[in-house]
Amino acid sequence: TSFQELGLAAPLLSALAEEGYEKPTPIQAQAIPHLLQGRDLLGIAQTGTGKTAAFSLPILDRLSRDRKPAPRHGCRALVLSPTRELASQIAESIRSYGRHLKLRVAVVFGGVSARPQAQELARGVDILVATPGRLIDHLDGRAVNLSHVEVFVLDEADQMLDMGFIHAIRRLVPLLPKVRQNLFFSATMPKEIGALAADLLRDPVQVSV
Ligand code: AMP
Repeated sequence: TSFQELGLAAPLLSALAEEGYEKPTPIQAQAIPHLLQGRDLLGIAQTGTGKTAAFSLPILDRLSRDRKPAPRHGCRALVLSPTRELASQIAESIRSYGRHLKLRVAVVFGGVSARPQAQELARGVDILVATPGRLIDHLDGRAVNLSHVEVFVLDEADQMLDMGFIHAIRRLVPLLPKVRQNLFFSATMPKEIGALAADLLRDPVQVSV
């Protein structure tokens, strides 16, 4: 399979060629066609499998084809990541794959001043990558609302559990619109994570690599 055969938009294909990606990894080949159709996904995958591109490319594809202004104090796609390092890497990858699209990508995490993050959120972003704790802070401070989220990604769910973020996630999920696409990634499936996946996902495609 090639990226072209997966049906990705031309500006994404150009960016992937520039990035030096020759063909999709197994998780990309298996997940991307379903994600482009709007299906929910349960991905059992470790870091290093190319899962970041597997969820980022369909989000970029969707937002580039269905142009809307970035919602003020909100976002159209929300990616939750357990650590600031991972969140930064994801945002960097999304910016790189989306280099030919004019989309706003923001990343928010703790340990740094919240004010500039709040200002960026106020202007509106297309894709927001966040750690759960800082996102809750911004929600409590009314800097962001989740009412415009079309795609919700929970990355490294088992790490979220280990780091004590499950409560934060359980708190913010009810703030998402009922109709949305959900992507859930975890390297392992302990009971609590399986239960969270079952609550979040609607008729998901399951991909395990
Ligand atoms: P990830 O599992 O998302 O952390 O990705 C692992 C690494 O693989 C990253 O450095 C990506 O840039 C790289 N990568 C992802 N997809 C591809 C691909 N289709 N071809 C070559 N490299 C890739």
